[in-house]
Amino acid sequence: MAKPAILTVDDDPAVSRAVARDLRRQYGEEYRVIRADSGAEALDSLKELKLRGEQVAVLLADYRMPGMNGLQFLEQAMDLFPRARRVLLTAYADTDAAIQAINIVDLDHYLLKPWHPPEEKLYPVMDAMIEAWKAAPDRPVTDVKIVGHRWSAPSFRVRDFLARNMVSYRWFTTDDAEGQRLLTAAGLTGADVPLVVTAEGKTLVAPTEAELAVQVGLTTTPAADFYDLVVVGGGPAGLGAAVYGASEGLRTVLLEERATGGQAGQSSRIENYLGFPDGVSGAQLTDRARRQAIKFGAELLTACRVTRLAVQGSARVLHFEDGTTIAAHSVILATGVSYRRLGAPGLAELHGRGVYYGSAATEAPSCRDQDVYIVGGANSAGQAAMFFSRYARRVHLVIRGRSLDASMSRYLIEQIAAVEHIEVHPCTEVVAAHGDEHLERLELRHVDGGQSRTVDASWLFIFIGAEPRTDWLDGVVQRDARGFVLTGPDLLTGDEPPPGWLLGRDPYHLESSVPGVFAAGDVRADSVKRVASAVGEGAMAVSLVHRYLVEGQ
Ligand SMILES: Cc1cc2nc3c(=O)[nH]c(=O)nc-3n(C[C@H](O)[C@H](O)[C@H](O)COP(=O)(O)OP(=O)(O)OC[C@H]3O[C@@H](n4cnc5c(N)ncnc54)[C@H](O)[C@@H]3O)c2cc1C
Repeated sequence: MAKPAILTVDDDPAVSRAVARDLRRQYGEEYRVIRADSGAEALDSLKELKLRGEQVAVLLADYRMPGMNGLQFLEQAMDLFPRARRVLLTAYADTDAAIQAINIVDLDHYLLKPWHPPEEKLYPVMDAMIEAWKAAPDRPVTDVKIVGHRWSAPSFRVRDFLARNMVSYRWFTTDDAEGQRLLTAAGLTGADVPLVVTAEGKTLVAPTEAELAVQVGLTTTPAADFYDLVVVGGGPAGLGAAVYGASEGLRTVLLEERATGGQAGQSSRIENYLGFPDGVSGAQLTDRARRQAIKFGAELLTACRVTRLAVQGSARVLHFEDGTTIAAHSVILATGVSYRRLGAPGLAELHGRGVYYGSAATEAPSCRDQDVYIVGGANSAGQAAMFFSRYARRVHLVIRGRSLDASMSRYLIEQIAAVEHIEVHPCTEVVAAHGDEHLERLELRHVDGGQSRTVDASWLFIFIGAEPRTDWLDGVVQRDARGFVLTGPDLLTGDEPPPGWLLGRDPYHLESSVPGVFAAGDVRADSVKRVASAVGEGAMAVSLVHRYLVEGQ
């Protein structure tokens, strides 16, 4: 950690050097003495120190300086480092000004020039200043710093991106005094957020995830052009494939668009994964898997969105958003699914804290004797309503349509009708979610508008469909009507292989319509949407890759 700074500014370079020399001699071991020849130069140094999260113990400024005098400098310096002790260097004639300064910048001391001998005139003053600062020092912040608005989606996204990638950061709102200081140091205003300040003091305004990833030290570019295996997607299936691929000697790279962990990484507690009787958080599981993959020599790239797959002879070429490519003998598609999101304010911030997308059966016991809200009118929402009715005091099924008839199977509608404590709210939408630490209230409104009503709610499960985002495979890899990747026997029509399949064998079990391109996990048609099955399919796909490399081409 950097030593706290003592900054001295004097427009006379000879005086400035002499003060700095005397200070270094006495305090150089514990403090970094920084000198400047003008107020503007000194302020620039302070801004850099602020952005790097360093400390400033004492500021010594000459009063009579052209451009910006010592008082003006100290006034601005206070905005950046309010805890730094302030000393004004004055000549005899400036004594009155110095006394006034006590009122303006709450001056701690004025020191008459000349200060020689320092042992008598300078050091005792400095000792007192340092002692006072030590009693209430500013804290060094060596983490990444984020300044943003509490409820702004871009600010949330930056925090979420860093958190999911396990980069530690300090979060300041624009209302925080320290947040304001960082904005001032960066020469920005509250309109320029989210502001990210790296540990080195570099500032990024509303960065893209790719920019952010590079600046916080995540690996975003591959080390080689060609691999045995490229895994697309860093959820459980992709991480499983990377661990098995690398551990079995394949040159393996994993490409992840956002953060490794995928959907599972968002789960606060996975209770049904083998070997974790007390459950495991998605973040923990991901961190372990990531370290395991890296230990075996896999490359893990983040903020790498794959946008196209091409077949060039025996090579499988993947294109990135920025136009660059990477090639391999084989590919495992493990891009999972994304639950469609509800855009109502507050839901994103409370995601995982009372607001859940898709099945969150592990939360059910916690809902016992409470009200549960479910959004969605399809079978998945109906099944969830039935499931939660075993635990909850009351289940509220919120649907935009007039009834369930158009979207849900009859048997489920009948089951729901038979359960007294399931209430269907037709023509209703969630327009906002509120809560501090977790979801506390929902605002519901009739779809035709009008007044919203607020209900107390701690649990909201959203079932408005899971989508595989596989458009980029269009025309290359066969998918079903919903976009899930078809593999193995599902590709056969009768005994006929898929169109364009030229090999003398059928596709292997997890192999897609393109030889050497496999699919694992939720993205695969008819897959079981579970962490364990995704991991298992990742491992299984690797064994099929081996078979493909040895005998299958
Ligand atoms: C909140 C929540 C809780 C859950 N809890 C449980 C549970 O307790 N137990 C259980 O068994 N299951 C649970 N599940 C389901 C489980 O997480 C999924 O079945 C599992 O994560 C699927 O893994 P996957 O690797 O196939 O896909 P995903 O986890 O969806 O991962 C896919 C990854 O691919 C990336 N990606 C997508 N497109 C691209 C692209 N073009 N380029 C690069 N990368 C891309 C995504 O960013 C994502 O990280 C839960 C799901 C959620 C959402």
